[in-house]
Amino acid sequence: MRLKRTHFISQVTEDLEGEIVRLAGWVHEVRDLGGIRFLLLRDREGIIQVTAKAKESPGEVFDVIGKLTRESVIAVEGIVVKSSKAKLGVEIKPLQIEVLNIAESPLPLDPTGRVPAELSTRLDSRFIDLRRPEERAVFIIQHHLLQATRNFFSSKGFIEVVTPRILATATEGGAALFTVNYFGSTAYLAQSPQLYKEQLTGSLEKVFEVGLFFRAEESNTTYHLNEFLSLDVEEAFADEEDVMNLLEEYIVHVFGEVKHRCSDELKVLGRDLKEPMRPFKRVSYDDAVSLLREERVKVNWGDDLSTQALRKLGELFDGPFFIVDWPTHLKPFYIMPREDDPSRSYSFDLMYGWLEIASGGRRIHRKEQLIARLKEQGLNPDSFKHHLKCYDYGMPPHSGWGLGLARLMMIITGRRNIREVVLYPRDRWRLTP
Ligand code: ATP
Ligand code: MG
Repeated sequence: MRLKRTHFISQVTEDLEGEIVRLAGWVHEVRDLGGIRFLLLRDREGIIQVTAKAKESPGEVFDVIGKLTRESVIAVEGIVVKSSKAKLGVEIKPLQIEVLNIAESPLPLDPTGRVPAELSTRLDSRFIDLRRPEERAVFIIQHHLLQATRNFFSSKGFIEVVTPRILATATEGGAALFTVNYFGSTAYLAQSPQLYKEQLTGSLEKVFEVGLFFRAEESNTTYHLNEFLSLDVEEAFADEEDVMNLLEEYIVHVFGEVKHRCSDELKVLGRDLKEPMRPFKRVSYDDAVSLLREERVKVNWGDDLSTQALRKLGELFDGPFFIVDWPTHLKPFYIMPREDDPSRSYSFDLMYGWLEIASGGRRIHRKEQLIARLKEQGLNPDSFKHHLKCYDYGMPPHSGWGLGLARLMMIITGRRNIREVVLYPRDRWRLTP
C-alpha cells in the first residue's frame, strides 16, 4: 500500500480545511455527471464524498473513479475542502487514488441496505453484510458489553478463568453433546464449564469465564445456537441470594455502560435503552404455575415451563424477573434441594420478558448428597469420580450462574433472532461461513 491512511473518515472535520489527508476504505457509490464525478468513500467510521472535476483533478484520478465498482477497496489522498452540500460539511478534492482491490459486480448483497435481504442471504454473505452500519453497531455494542463484563467482575474481585472445551465425560450428564474423535477414543465438547468452575471455588474462590460452549440440540428456535457464548460465574461462601444480587447488579451495570459508551450505535439501531430497576421481581415456580392457571394456561406442577407458558409470564412481568425455587427434579444434580422442602431447590432463572437469560443457584458442596442426587437423576457416580474427589478435600459452600451473552445482546439491541447478534452463527443447518 503506497498511500498510508492518516485519518478515519470520522476524524475529517472542518478544522482540517486545506490540509492533505489520506483515507482508505470501500467505494460506497459512484455518480458520474459527465464533467464531475462523485465518489462516496466509506470506512468503519463513516462516509465522505470525494469530488473530482474533469477540468481540475489530475487526469488519471478522474479516469480511475470512472472505472471503480461498488465495494472496491481504495486509498485516496486529497485536500479537505468545506462544502455546504456535503453531509459532514467537508469533502475531499482528490490528488491521488490507489486502487487496492476491485470488487466484482453484481454484489451478492446490497451493503447500503436499500435492497432488503433475508437473514439467511445476509449470513451467507456476512463479509459484506457487516459493512452495513446497523450490523457493525451490533458488534461494537458486543465489544463494549464484553469489556464492561470483564471490568465489572474484576472490580468485584473475581478472577477470569479458562476451562477446557474437550472433555472425557459428559459435564452434566446431558445427552446433547457433540463427540470428538480424540486419538481414537471418544471425547466430548463442553456444554458448560459447570464442574470446573465449581472446583475452582476451592482455590480461586470467586471466578468468572467468558467462553464458547456447545450443545448438540436439534432445536430450531430464534434463541438457540449449537455454539454459544456463555458468561459463567461461581462464588465460594455465597448463597443463591448473593449471586442473584450480583446478577442484578451486573445487568444494571452493563446496561448503563452500553448506554453511556454506545450512544451512537444505539441511535443507529433506533434503541432507547432503559436501565432496569433493582431489585428485579422474584416469583416462585409455584406462584408462576398458579398465575398461569389463572390465565388459563395449562401447566402440571413439576413440568418444565413451556414456551407458551413463558410467553404468558413475559406478558405479566415486563422486563427482567426471576423465577425461583424450581422443583428439584427439573434442575441439574448439582443444585441444592431446599432444607425446608427437598422437592424444591435453591435455584433461579433470570427471565427478560419471555426469554430465559440465565440459570443458577446454590450448589451442593457435600459429597454424599451429591452422589445421592446423581443417582436420583439416573447418572453413574463413577463417571464423575475426578469431580467427586474434590469433595473429599474441602469443597466450600458455593453458588453461581450461567448467562447466555447472545440472549443478553438480543435484549440490548432489540434483534429478534440470535443469529443476528452472533458474527458467524452455528445452528443445525449452518456451519458456514
Ligand atoms: P433453554 O431452556 O432456553 O434451552 P437451558 O436452561 O437449557 O436454556 P442453561 O443450561 O440454563 O440453558 O444455560 C444457561 C444459559 O445459557 C441459558 O439461560 C441461556 O441464556 C444460555 N443458553 C443455553 N443454551 C443455549 C443455546 N443453545 N443457545 C444460546 N444460548 C443458550
Ligand atoms: Mg436454564
